[in-house]
Amino acid sequence: MTQHNNLIKGEWVAGNGYSPNLNPSNLSDVIGEYTQGDASHVDAAVQAARAAFPAWSTSGIQARADALDKIGSEILARKEELGTLLAREEGKTKPEGIGEAARAGNIFKFFAGECLRLAGETLPSVRPGIGVEITREPVGVVGIITPWNFPIAIPAWKIAPALAYGNCVVMKPADLVPGCAWALAEIISRSGIPAGVFNLVMGRGSVIGDALVGHPGIDAVSFTGSQGVGARIAQACATGLKKFQLEMGGKNPQVVLDDADLKTAVELCVQSAFFSTGQRCTASSRLIVTQGIYPKFIEAMKERMAGLKVGDALAQGIDIGPVSSQSQLEQDLSYVEIGKGEGAVLAAGGGRLKLATDGFYMAPALFSESAAAMRINREEIFGPVASVIRVKDYEEALATANDTPFGLSAGIATTSLKHATHFKRHSQAGMVMVNLPTAGVDYHVPFGGRKGSSYGPREQGRYAQEFFTTVKTAYTLA
Ligand code: NAP
Repeated sequence: MTQHNNLIKGEWVAGNGYSPNLNPSNLSDVIGEYTQGDASHVDAAVQAARAAFPAWSTSGIQARADALDKIGSEILARKEELGTLLAREEGKTKPEGIGEAARAGNIFKFFAGECLRLAGETLPSVRPGIGVEITREPVGVVGIITPWNFPIAIPAWKIAPALAYGNCVVMKPADLVPGCAWALAEIISRSGIPAGVFNLVMGRGSVIGDALVGHPGIDAVSFTGSQGVGARIAQACATGLKKFQLEMGGKNPQVVLDDADLKTAVELCVQSAFFSTGQRCTASSRLIVTQGIYPKFIEAMKERMAGLKVGDALAQGIDIGPVSSQSQLEQDLSYVEIGKGEGAVLAAGGGRLKLATDGFYMAPALFSESAAAMRINREEIFGPVASVIRVKDYEEALATANDTPFGLSAGIATTSLKHATHFKRHSQAGMVMVNLPTAGVDYHVPFGGRKGSSYGPREQGRYAQEFFTTVKTAYTLA
């Protein structure tokens, strides 16, 4: 069995033993063994990053651009292989895995270009004879903590801007999916980036994550994951006076109006709610449907869902892979019971599936007759479970869509320009989709939410510089 180590100061360093990385489609398939670090490995990685920072932060932008471009090119050239690894360790279908790997490659290429485009401003001073320059500088050593559901794209969309703008990095991937993070680190280690600029420490959040966030040598923390862990990281960063950025959960609404094209509405609801096994922060789990189309919508959803194929993520012709872990499957199934107990009607799916291989398979679940106040409509389930809420009209649909502590993504299916325009303006979400699934976004534009879904500047696109740089204002007497 291949053993994989941490990357610290350009060396592959063993931690304290190894954990097996299991394929959620087939639990007898062990992908590899990945080392478990501790606080001493975090400390060594932070020291290495600090030592590398002075040279890297002042290195030429061409060298940085070349390195990021090389990383992006290699990921794109190996997207099939990396996407297959992703599907094998996380459970997305292989086409989804390949798509995610390609996205990671494109992100590195985008930020290779951004290395050359970091502009400042010059302004006249209000005092005659003085010039004012506003420039951006790297923040320092950035701790990056990522979740399991996008094991290569999320690391990429944090690492690439961090490096592009001259920061050094210590990254901790989700313990469930170290394979893609390790493969990415291996590519970065051969890109020409000096030793210590990028470091990978694998292990449990309670050990590595805590040590990283609390380390005095870390200047900023970029985190994606659950609200609970995010709040804890926020407290630790506030205590240590570190800059931080949190991308967290969602309870994303998908509104369907009476005037929607039924086929389009059903397709985008099925994609949003159930593709990638519903394990996307932007997945829609609340389908808010106006009363005129409601009966037709439920019937059409049931019919479409009956045709969905759940199976081994690597098998051909599969729509939905397994749930990623035993604990996530238990959580999903428990919410099915909670929904039934609350009085919602289980219209389709909802049970564990026994297939040819021993994996965490579940039939996507749809509740009808659910109420906005039910727990299944308030709490993030993070699995293939969606519920339909019947509303009177557009106004009630908008109010219901906004009635949530989250605010990541929101969608509307309608043929009315008036309602689409009003929804785009009045939805309390960071990303709004018209006649498109709530999940599925571009890599060159800002990504992020509002309310309890996000804290701090946006990720991705040019807006990433807000977090990964700090602004300096310089005055010169002419
Ligand atoms: P999670 O349990 O919060 O874990 C996220 C990361 O934090 C993991 O690397 C985890 O390590 C680490 N961690 C755990 N405890 C920690 C601690 N005390 N200190 C520092 N780090 C700690 O989230 P998840 O289950 O991996 O991912 C699912 C969640 O991510 C969902 O809520 C989803 O909505 C959210 N998400 C949000 C976005 C977005 O952009 N808004 C995108 C994707 C996912 P371990 O793996 O070792 O536990």
